[in-house]
Amino acid sequence: MDYVKSRVRDVNDFPKKGILFKDLTTAFKDPRALHAIGWDLSQLYRDKGVTKVVGIESRGFIGGSILAFELGAGFVPVRKPGKLPADTLKATYEKEYGTDTIEIHRDAITEDDIVVLHDDVLATGGTMAAAYNLVKSMNPKKIYVNFIIELTALNGRDVLPAEAEVTSLIKY
Ligand code: AMP
Repeated sequence: MDYVKSRVRDVNDFPKKGILFKDLTTAFKDPRALHAIGWDLSQLYRDKGVTKVVGIESRGFIGGSILAFELGAGFVPVRKPGKLPADTLKATYEKEYGTDTIEIHRDAITEDDIVVLHDDVLATGGTMAAAYNLVKSMNPKKIYVNFIIELTALNGRDVLPAEAEVTSLIKY
């Protein structure tokens, strides 16, 4: 992971002043780093019987798709409101300013599924906690939670349910 870490770009004051943005596009465009991300993510879940990877819009679609492909699982998108065409379940959650909503197709997950929820970066954890509750309401057998990067100083793990098994490849 040291190589992947060396390919992550820090962008100051994005998307707003005071945020140090961990930009993974510089790792995704690097063939060796992209391969290492896909391989290391898949090694975490190789023997767990995972049937669906749920990726969070939009940066979670990249690692999530690779992980699903590597595991022989299906891929399910969690999207911003109004983007999914069929019947959805919605979750609204608090952000620093105001609220945000995410959606998942109502028929995306069944009670037989073993799910990995994936996003690129764990920051405050609000987005993932909302996605976790959405997936949980569909009663899958098991939900794992995964990130490529975890910003430990923001304590995002604390807002995720205690039962969630959380992994991340790179911690800052
Ligand atoms: P969260 O605060 O955990 O709900 O994060 C919201 C979304 O913004 C997640 O999809 C993260 O990938 C992204 N995000 C938040 N903070 C950062 C950061 N400092 N660098 C990169 N991505 C971030």
